[in-house]
Amino acid sequence: MKITAKQQTLAITGGPKAITKDEGNIFHWPIVTSADENAVLDVLRRGAMSGTDITKRFEQEFADWMGMKFALGYCNGTESLRAAMWACGLGAGDEMICPSMTYWASCTAALSLGAAVNFAEILPDTLCIDPKDIEHRIGPRTKAIMVVHYCGYPCDMDPIMKLARKHRIKVIEDVSHAHGGLYKGRKVGTFGDISAMSMMAGKSFAIGEAGMMVTNNRDLYERCVAYGHYERTGLPSNFNAVDRSIFNPALNKFAGLPLGGFKHRMNQTCSAMGRVQLKHYDRRITEIQAAMNRFWDLLEGVPGLRAHRTPPTGKSTMGGWYAARGLYRADELGGLPCAKFCEAVRAEGAAMCNPGANIPLHLHPVYHDADIFNQGKPTMIAFGQRDVRQGPGSLPVAESIRDISYSIPWFKHDRPAVIKAYAQAYRKVAEHADQLMT
Ligand SMILES: *Cc1c(COP(=O)(O)O)cnc(C)c1O
Repeated sequence: MKITAKQQTLAITGGPKAITKDEGNIFHWPIVTSADENAVLDVLRRGAMSGTDITKRFEQEFADWMGMKFALGYCNGTESLRAAMWACGLGAGDEMICPSMTYWASCTAALSLGAAVNFAEILPDTLCIDPKDIEHRIGPRTKAIMVVHYCGYPCDMDPIMKLARKHRIKVIEDVSHAHGGLYKGRKVGTFGDISAMSMMAGKSFAIGEAGMMVTNNRDLYERCVAYGHYERTGLPSNFNAVDRSIFNPALNKFAGLPLGGFKHRMNQTCSAMGRVQLKHYDRRITEIQAAMNRFWDLLEGVPGLRAHRTPPTGKSTMGGWYAARGLYRADELGGLPCAKFCEAVRAEGAAMCNPGANIPLHLHPVYHDADIFNQGKPTMIAFGQRDVRQGPGSLPVAESIRDISYSIPWFKHDRPAVIKAYAQAYRKVAEHADQLMT
């Protein structure tokens, strides 16, 4: 088909839209079948929402799927991350290193432990923590490095683990964006000392308000149980050998009450759905991977646009492509601002196209001035921490996120015609960027 001059006129300047097809249910998620419904209804009819029988089965199945020894269910991802930080020994006066570009829940609970967050830079091509921006941040009170497999991209774990071992600090993986993703052929969430993740309704593994901790380290597991799972400490269980005896006498002494005063139990409507979702998850993300790679293959070589994806030939994958992004290089488009590019793509019919991702956390006032403990001092420095607060200009890549990235459609099904239309919207604007440079 010959492309007419009219078709090449951008929709924002009065041309025809690139996307005219109905997208159907290609974006609908999670996929819920009668199996999910029946599992949840069974919990409701038994009045078993606050029990742990289903959750323990789900934990075992999830641990097996991850290839890990221990999994522990949580009421949400934020709490699983708080528990992981505490389990790693993060306490008053300590520090944790975390990339600035992530959702706040990766690190904000550190403040509630009296610790400071030392924010690190991200790499412009992966949007994940820059392994070279970690070591110089390690101080005598640094207890952990939080890594985030950001928007599905697996962090470069090899150099990070090497650094952490050298300095004897713990690595926590926030897997909230990357369930089922691989780094060099191995599942993300299996590299660090402990991993935690969200399973809330918008994530790629989506079962409601829920989270999960996984680890191979029995001590860390027991600490997580002791911190917020009071109903398990010291109690026998058919499903989890560790419940039978919390070995650590210091923790066992507190059996029956949560050390942290937290209540971290997962609602069993979520774990029931989780057990069903897990059976289908590998197959479903394989289709997502095919669809998303199809989208990027169609945009290969388009000026200004770069895929945010692992090399197709390698053994790393993007999991379920949560919050999928594209990379933007304005210099190849005559300096067209990313926000203007996105506005034009939206006009073509791709409503999800917006500049940026999360906000750069190191600039947020919570990490400068918030006084959570009413001490008359910002919590970042109130417990004798080094002052690691960072102002504008300190992490330029994270701060430029709205200039270098944008959202792309998150396809759940590999349907070539729809995917092609969306790719055409992005291609058309990039190839006719001159029409926007008035
Ligand atoms: C969603 C998310 C969380 C928080 O999980 P909730 O289940 O919403 O509490 C933590 N970290 C990252 C990176 C997230 O995207």
